[in-house]
Amino acid sequence: MLYPEVRNYVAGNFINSSAETLEIISPLDGSLLSTVPLSGETELNEAVKAAQQAFPKWSAMPIKERVQIFFRYKTLLEQNLEELTELVHRENGKTLGEARAEVEKAIELTEFACSLPQLVAGEILEVSAGVECRLEKKPIGVVASITPFNFPNMVPHWTIPNALALGNCMILKPSEKVPISANRIAELLTEAGLPAGVFNVVNGAQELVEAICDHPDIAAVSFVGSTNVAKIVYRRATSNLKRCVALGGAKNHIIVLPDANIGLTAAGVAASMSGCAGQRCMAGSAMLGVGPIDNIIEKIVEEAKKIIPGENLGSVISKEAKERIEKYISEAEKAGAKVLVDGRNAMVSGKENGYYVGPTIIDFVTPDMAIAKEEVFGPVLAIIRAKTLDEALQIENKSEYGNAASVFTQSGGLARYVMENASAGMIGVNVGVPVPREPFSFGGWNESKFGTCDITGKSSIEFWTQMKKTTTKWNPEAGINWMS
Ligand code: NAD
Repeated sequence: MLYPEVRNYVAGNFINSSAETLEIISPLDGSLLSTVPLSGETELNEAVKAAQQAFPKWSAMPIKERVQIFFRYKTLLEQNLEELTELVHRENGKTLGEARAEVEKAIELTEFACSLPQLVAGEILEVSAGVECRLEKKPIGVVASITPFNFPNMVPHWTIPNALALGNCMILKPSEKVPISANRIAELLTEAGLPAGVFNVVNGAQELVEAICDHPDIAAVSFVGSTNVAKIVYRRATSNLKRCVALGGAKNHIIVLPDANIGLTAAGVAASMSGCAGQRCMAGSAMLGVGPIDNIIEKIVEEAKKIIPGENLGSVISKEAKERIEKYISEAEKAGAKVLVDGRNAMVSGKENGYYVGPTIIDFVTPDMAIAKEEVFGPVLAIIRAKTLDEALQIENKSEYGNAASVFTQSGGLARYVMENASAGMIGVNVGVPVPREPFSFGGWNESKFGTCDITGKSSIEFWTQMKKTTTKWNPEAGINWMS
């Protein structure tokens, strides 16, 4: 094993678990990386107890003091950038460049948390003579964060720095497919000075997630993963009267208009569909080509052919994922679509046990095909032809998902029309992966997100805090009336 066994982290200590374990296999080459325990309710109870014990002192600490730990933590992330990058690369399979970008994004997320004191100051108003109302944002208690496999380092950082800096204590449940990064995160947070019990990691899968949703002492649950599971988690956590934000899957459309800049569009579309091997909830996996755009498609094909598995394209997460992706391609082909670039049966020499799918471009996909509607989560672009922009928007609007939508055009008016009419939470204009950067928040619409707040940025402040309103009166001479 390349890494020591993954363990739960509770009350500042790594704990041996007697739970059954799962092997963690690197999708890059099939090598054994580590093992992870599949913990359940008992281990969760211990972690929640530790978090509850840490909460009074942690939440009482002024936020300006709490963020000092995150300033130090940010420096530690920077100092350990290469090691953390290598870890993400090995456990997830994305390229080293993509893994480095992921950790850099985690650093940006931590930097945002360091700025929270500037954003969470309360409000005060003299509402009648001598009577003041004061509003403060208070932490909510013990919270949980459940994360997916595709960003082992970044997605945990969507929640950890903000939730903790705002005074909460957390249980992180990382994806059992990529749990090693979370152990390093725990070590670095401790090195930065985070008190024991404020941050805990419990590893597991479905049974543990259900226990989190049911636990009476967990006040809020954030979830990032597929839509089916997001629905289960949102329903179960809210039915147990917890607040919950649950981000789900995606089918993001890129609308390409005939006036688009050819080079920029081809590079943007190819990068959007293939980055992180298409395993991004922001991947542009369906292109809506409006009118005569054959010249742009030719250039996209040219760009796609420069993407080589094992070089500038990482692996997909598992054998099952590879088979699922290839099935989507074969079924679309059978249904009459034309495969322009075929990534099926990709092999990387020396890494025959890795799971690779090459870049794939399929033209003349129709909106009723599964590949046009469902999340493929692989480096595959389905091109759907539309006669007009309105027809393209109708197809986009019909999607059950609504994470992102982009348009490539040189017309400001048409770009504006798409901005107004696309049914997605994150819109790109000549940008293939329109991830909002801090302080803007991340979150989609429709079945890409359940719950009202976004998961990052300023919007997350509302999720991780509750408002305390205090009314004070200091002028006894004014007497008492119903307004005071
Ligand atoms: P997943 O839904 O399979 O797993 C996510 C988490 O849920 C994991 O921690 C897993 O252990 C747990 N889980 C899995 N099945 C469960 C079940 N039946 N009951 C309870 N818990 C369960 O997702 P994944 O395959 O790890 O990640 C890929 C998915 O995540 C894609 O759909 C992708 O679009 C989505 N995603 C969305 C966003 C977003 O911001 N909207 C970001 C990243 C990933």
